Amino acid sequence: MTVERTLSIIKPDATHRNLTGKINAFFEDADLRIIAQKRLLLTRQQAEAFYAVHAERSFYGELCNYMTSGPVVVQVLQGEDAIARNRQIMGATNPANADEGTIRKEVGVNVQENSVHGSDSPENAAKEIAFFFSETEIVG
Ligand code: ADP
Ligand code: MG
Repeated sequence: MTVERTLSIIKPDATHRNLTGKINAFFEDADLRIIAQKRLLLTRQQAEAFYAVHAERSFYGELCNYMTSGPVVVQVLQGEDAIARNRQIMGATNPANADEGTIRKEVGVNVQENSVHGSDSPENAAKEIAFFFSETEIVG
């Protein structure tokens, strides 16, 4: 096991319902430490760039509309095996398929409005963290 950092986003459906603290408790209860955090309204350009990997998917336009529809909270989580463990804590992309006790099962609305984003690999974690944070904003 290694200590890793991963990029997390609390999405607009969750900030709209005032669930930032509730979601952060899932991370802290699992010994993931929030070592950077800020609340932002993404620009269209930021949303399109962040999700560029999905540019060819049918849901890309809707996803970018949704991600710019309200505030998001971007954060860096640190802990043992943080990247894979955060994906477990989040649950499956579609809340209907997510395991009991996961964030998406507990608070997700549907396959799009699924409350959280989490990096899926060490390479993407490094890229996604650098997308939102400078080194001086991350205090581990
Ligand atoms: P994950 O967030 O679990 O890594 P993906 O990377 O496949 O999932 O998709 C990115 C985001 O795009 C999802 O979290 C969700 O908000 C949205 N999304 C994924 N699949 C669909 C779909 N079939 N319809 C609408 N939105 C989707
Ligand atoms: Mg993904």
